[in-house]
Amino acid sequence: MWLALLAAAASAAVLAYAWSERNGYARLDDAAARQLELHAAVLENELGKHAYLPGVLRIDGDIAALLHAPKDAALRDAVSRKLTRFNVQAGALATFVIDAQGVVAATSDWYRPDSLLGRDLSSLPYFASARRGEQGRFFVPSAAGGAPEYYFAQPLVRDEQVLGSVVVRISLAALERTWVDSAVRADSEKPLVVDERGVVILSSQPAWKFKALAPMSAEERARLAALGVYAGHPIEPLGMVVEQPLEHGAQLVRMRVLPSTKPVLYVLHERPVPRFGWRLMSLSDASEVWRTARLAAWGAGAITGFVGLFLLYQVQRRRVVAQKLAARAALQRAHDELEVKVQQRTAELQASNAELQHEIVERRHAEAVLREAQEELVQAGKLALLGQMSASISHEIGQPLTAMRALSENARLLLERGESGEVADNLAGITDLVERMGRITKQLKSFARKTPAAAGPVQVASAVRNAQQLLGARIAQEGVELRLQVGEDLHALCDGYRLEQVLVNLMSNAIDAMHACERRQITVRAWRAEGRVMMRLSDSGPGIPPAQRARLFEPFFTTKPPDAGLGLGLAISANIVHEFGGALRAVEGDDGAAFEFDLPAAEMSHV
Ligand code: ADP
Repeated sequence: MWLALLAAAASAAVLAYAWSERNGYARLDDAAARQLELHAAVLENELGKHAYLPGVLRIDGDIAALLHAPKDAALRDAVSRKLTRFNVQAGALATFVIDAQGVVAATSDWYRPDSLLGRDLSSLPYFASARRGEQGRFFVPSAAGGAPEYYFAQPLVRDEQVLGSVVVRISLAALERTWVDSAVRADSEKPLVVDERGVVILSSQPAWKFKALAPMSAEERARLAALGVYAGHPIEPLGMVVEQPLEHGAQLVRMRVLPSTKPVLYVLHERPVPRFGWRLMSLSDASEVWRTARLAAWGAGAITGFVGLFLLYQVQRRRVVAQKLAARAALQRAHDELEVKVQQRTAELQASNAELQHEIVERRHAEAVLREAQEELVQAGKLALLGQMSASISHEIGQPLTAMRALSENARLLLERGESGEVADNLAGITDLVERMGRITKQLKSFARKTPAAAGPVQVASAVRNAQQLLGARIAQEGVELRLQVGEDLHALCDGYRLEQVLVNLMSNAIDAMHACERRQITVRAWRAEGRVMMRLSDSGPGIPPAQRARLFEPFFTTKPPDAGLGLGLAISANIVHEFGGALRAVEGDDGAAFEFDLPAAEMSHV
């Protein structure tokens, strides 16, 4: 992209350079052509306006008379004065009449000490042509004062005989001076005139004068110098080197203004001046053309670069805008998709939330049903336990009843005997027994009562005592030794009745197991460990065979006869312990079976 831009700028610069150079040359061509035209016109005018002068004098009778009588001094004087007047009016340098032998018969400068009068000019070329009856023209590039001069000679013919000739001498110094003046400006073109021999005869640069345009041999130069036309100037080569031909016959040349200066490139234009056999040339400084061309090249390069950069910027901007739009569209799409997804997800979430709510309701319901079932089960377990204990209960109640009957019988006899003091003792004994029975029935009632579980701090020792009391009759009956190692300050977070139920279950299982044993001992131990209350009941029974151990906590698993056990005791007990965040497990006992469970310990502040 950048390379293309650079290439475009470079080619624009090259094209602009070429175009501007071409244009510059064309402009120079134009200007030079006009200048050449002007110079030629001025030159021809300058010379032309004098060319007719000899012709005018030719018809003068006095001059013809003088030529017929050259010795007539009066006539000579008259003619000379006439010529002086004429000369002044015509603006010429000198006007003179030459006789047939080439001697000056009359002259406008007769009064000057260096007057031509009487001078023999027969050797001069214009005299030769005049004698032949032709018009004579003679150019002296550097006359006495160094100024270029021109001679016009007109033969005076009478009866086909050449009597002599009239010569007008004019100076071209003024013309040359205007060239020199105009050429002072470095950028202006420098005109020069080359004569028929290829030597510069008029030039705006004095240093170029009398230089040969083309290189010529030494003999040639010597011959030219010997002509005397160039006033003894040695003819040196001008040192113009043609670099390259240009359009319309122009040439690019290299030359020095002075031998000491650097060579400069000029555009050389040329035009013939046929009337005099000369060539009018003009040298225009080419550096301006290149300067303009360079400027044009820089300008074109810069403009192309700028336009290119601007276009690149526009393209880039369009691309960025397009990208932005695309990004925005993509963002919008993503946003829309997201919105749809969010809506879908929200709907899904709402659906699953509703489902969850529904499940929660169902779960709560199921939990309530389960709790109810559990409570029912616990109740069933209690009733089963009471059923199992009914024998010992009836014994527990039967015994005081028997004692009461005996006491009341005894009291009646004592009343008959009038021993009222003894009666009072008996009645007091009866009251004690009734109270004891009341305690037993109260305990049974509270044990059998259907109560929902409620967790709170429970003194472990009192729960153990209540269980012991509930089983008091059986313990006594079986002669079981109960060893309690339970601290009074130990409290567990649970329900007291439930804990009693667990303990009663475990103890009655132990009593059942030890029925056939010699030694009957139950040890109840409770201790605190890491925020838990640990309880362990071990017996001295036969223990549990490993095959049964895995099934102990299954509901309705029993090894007892149908009237003795339902197989619910351990299952219910495990459930109760689990409900309070603990676990009931059968562990290896010292001699018999051992069960252990844990409950969360209640901090004393709860009590
Ligand atoms: P049940 O007492 O009605 O049989 P349990 O669930 O209380 O139901 O006891 C299940 C079984 O576990 C008992 O039948 C018994 O075989 C065994 N078992 C329970 N405790 C002991 C124990 N201390 N020693 C030996 N076996 C026991």
